[in-house]
Amino acid sequence: MRRRVILLGPPGSGKGTIAVKLQKELGLHHVSSGHMLRREVDNGSTVGRRAKLFLDNGELVPDDVVLELMNTWLSSPNAEEGFVLDGFPRNLAQAKVLDEWLRGSPIERVILFDSPESVTVDRIIGRRTCPKCGRVYQLPTLAPGKDGVCDECGTSLVQREDDQEPVVRKRYDIYRQETEPLTAYYQQQGKLTVVDATRPLEQRLSAATAAVRE
Ligand code: AMP
Repeated sequence: MRRRVILLGPPGSGKGTIAVKLQKELGLHHVSSGHMLRREVDNGSTVGRRAKLFLDNGELVPDDVVLELMNTWLSSPNAEEGFVLDGFPRNLAQAKVLDEWLRGSPIERVILFDSPESVTVDRIIGRRTCPKCGRVYQLPTLAPGKDGVCDECGTSLVQREDDQEPVVRKRYDIYRQETEPLTAYYQQQGKLTVVDATRPLEQRLSAATAAVRE
């Protein structure tokens, strides 16, 4: 299914988990800007060295850095097969650039996972990620088969540095200031579907799948 979809929502709203499921069920590429940036940091690239401090502090990485990474991916043949963007765009400037890039084949659906701060913080504290393949687990509801090990690739799972409570609260505030205005932007374009992120995973997934198929 060649769909171009954006997942929006505060940190801990479950976007990553849903994106992985949509990739499996609908064959859409999962494109996570956070995962791309962390990979650059781990590789010690020039981009990674620039991005590290922002990531560790829970702040947005400068637009030019993120836009370059995203432009590279969106220009690849994979992009023609359809994708779910997770974590990008994060502010109005990024959204406008994205619209420019995709003028011929625009985003079709934007799904907002709506979640209050209290739920978000609790979720993030239980989050574990695979540093190799980027798969996200949620303790205790979505635990790996073997404790601390990725089901997908067998790598040891980690808790992200920026998943500690004070950083999470800061990320939530930045979300409210920078990213939340995107909901009105996409609403005006008639593309927004809102999903209650506090609902059980299966319900969130079926709501998201239905929205993508619309
Ligand atoms: P995420 O994995 O989406 O929660 O992103 C983790 C961190 O990566 C964020 O707190 C930002 O520091 C950075 N990041 C990810 N996506 C973006 C983006 N589109 N613009 C700026 N910074 C980003």
